[in-house]
Amino acid sequence: MKDNPAPHFQRLVWLGAGLVALIGVLLGIDRLAADHLKDEVEITARDWAAQMTRSVPGLGQILDGQSASAEAQAALDVMQGSAGMLSFRLYDRQGRLRFQSESQDPLATGQTQAAEVPAQVLAGQRQVLLNQGNGITRPTVSSETWLPLLEQGLAIGVIAIHADQTDRAAFTTASFRRVALLAGGALAASFAIGAAVWRRRLAVERQAHDRLQYLVQHDTLTGTLNLAGFRQRLQQACAQPVAAGQGLAVLAVDIDDFKGINDRHGHRAGDHVLASTAQRLRSVLRGADSLARLGGDRFAVMQLGVADSGDVKALAERILATLAQPCDVGDGQVLLSASIGAAILGVDGGDGESLTQHAEQALLRARAAGRGGYSFYDPGLDAALQRRRQLALDLELALAHGRLQLHFQPLFQGRDGRLQGYEALARWHHPLQGPISPAEFIPLAEENGLIRALGRWVLHTACQEAARWPDGLTVAVNLSAAQFEQGESLVDEVRGALESAGLPAARLELEITESLLMNHTDQVLHTLKALQMLGLKVGMDDFGTGFSSLAYLWRFPFDKLKIDRAFTQGLETDDKVGVIVRAIVQLAHALGIRVNAEGVETEGQRQALVRHGCDELQGFLLGRPQPVGKLAHETQPEPAAV
Ligand code: C2E
Ligand code: MG
Ligand code: MG
Repeated sequence: MKDNPAPHFQRLVWLGAGLVALIGVLLGIDRLAADHLKDEVEITARDWAAQMTRSVPGLGQILDGQSASAEAQAALDVMQGSAGMLSFRLYDRQGRLRFQSESQDPLATGQTQAAEVPAQVLAGQRQVLLNQGNGITRPTVSSETWLPLLEQGLAIGVIAIHADQTDRAAFTTASFRRVALLAGGALAASFAIGAAVWRRRLAVERQAHDRLQYLVQHDTLTGTLNLAGFRQRLQQACAQPVAAGQGLAVLAVDIDDFKGINDRHGHRAGDHVLASTAQRLRSVLRGADSLARLGGDRFAVMQLGVADSGDVKALAERILATLAQPCDVGDGQVLLSASIGAAILGVDGGDGESLTQHAEQALLRARAAGRGGYSFYDPGLDAALQRRRQLALDLELALAHGRLQLHFQPLFQGRDGRLQGYEALARWHHPLQGPISPAEFIPLAEENGLIRALGRWVLHTACQEAARWPDGLTVAVNLSAAQFEQGESLVDEVRGALESAGLPAARLELEITESLLMNHTDQVLHTLKALQMLGLKVGMDDFGTGFSSLAYLWRFPFDKLKIDRAFTQGLETDDKVGVIVRAIVQLAHALGIRVNAEGVETEGQRQALVRHGCDELQGFLLGRPQPVGKLAHETQPEPAAV
């Protein structure tokens, strides 16, 4: 780990502050000691002054200028002998010197002038001065104290005492420093303890903060970044200037059929798959890249150092390869696959938000194209996707508000042109976009789970209408493959529609496309048989356009086969088509199946189809799909017979 220079700097600052504080404290202590010394000097001087007024007889007369009596002189000599006293002088109230002690005081020199008495002392105040000496000719510390001499509370003169304070000063300063040291030590100790506690608390708080920060930005299951963390890192990276060859891409990764894995193996296994996915993704990323789980089974990668789309493709392929390895779950192994959508900064978006969004749109397209693939963002395709999404919402509304319609296209007998019935075809007139082809909105309804409701509506409406038609006319209803996922309930629905309309089952035909039979064949065949048991007919629509159509012809007893209009259209241009149509008709007839030919647009086609033996014809030549109000229920317009 790299050293953080901040703590060293902080320590230096603390040390400096401590030294300054120490010097400040020592200076302060010496000052305090000096003040204290002054107080003590003054107290001693006051004691001496009081003693003088008490013990010197005739002090008043001395101050008035008379000579001291022998008795007074003796008392003054005793005063002079007091410990520490260097000399003293007595002045009268006007400041005239009246007495000066005999002494060895180096400062006491002969007659002293009255002017030397400080004015404030003459005014009754006290004054203490401390002087520094050299310790040889003058004491190291001496005091000069000026005090009024009081007798019964009245000032009778002034005394000036000069005393040696060297020992007392040394003692006082030493005592103060000792106390200061002790107090400072105690203070420092409590400060150090406080600082240690404070630092510990800060460390704990920082740890808690770091942990919280981690949780706020990471996914606990996989240890990767979460959506918030990813967003932040991506925004920061996008804000940096992009150097050549140092581009950025976002790859949205989604595990295919993760819901199925959860359903089949349980949520613990699902969690394990997610954790393993994160681990595998990490293993194919470079150090600077970031990995996030955005929610559910949605992962995102921020790839750095991207020179061109080739780098992104290479990473996408590495991801697909690593995820394709089998993954152990509690009760066995699962084979994973994933789909990836990618968007490159500066090409597919200028900021993190739009990049992520576009990578996810690309992912949708990758998924739509089949599993286990990757796709790049493409604005054109995404506009189409957007339109489809909007259209799906509009379709849902149209369905809910009964704005869909049914048109009916007549079906005629081939030979005599007699009206057989109609095929019901759903119509949607979009309020803004005009008519939308069922070839577009039926698959849309299938993708968006609307087909069940739509199919039920078509079935009921078609049966209700057909019940009002002349007896014998049939109605053909198209069924979507998605409706067969309902299984048995589809049979109930059809039965219900017939019953509520009062339409005999024999007048209903259901058309399915062969693509339906390609998946889940057995289940579909089972449902088809149950439907046929109701008494209705089942036809195969668009015959010949899918795969292996013939295989189904013997597996299910279709009542009708509708030859796709591509054949009808090819009849006049290619002779081989006629051969195929004839063969289909013969095959169907041999199996007892009627044949319808769709898309008859020309008289030539009609005649050819009749010649080839088609039982039923349908096409714009004979009648376009019409709303129910326009149905004439008439036989095929002339010329009918061939
Ligand atoms: P389809 O079942 O094969 O319906 C016949 C389609 O051919 C209809 O197209 C019809 O208008 C069109 N057609 C009829 N005669 C001619 C002709 O002479 N020339 C040309 N060029 N076309 C002709 P439409 O109505 O656009 O329906 C397209 C497909 O949408 C239908 O094909 C059917 O598969 C599906 N579809 C329509 N309505 C429904 C429905 O209610 N449910 C389901 N599941 N599918 C439906
Ligand atoms: Mg049809
Ligand atoms: Mg058709």
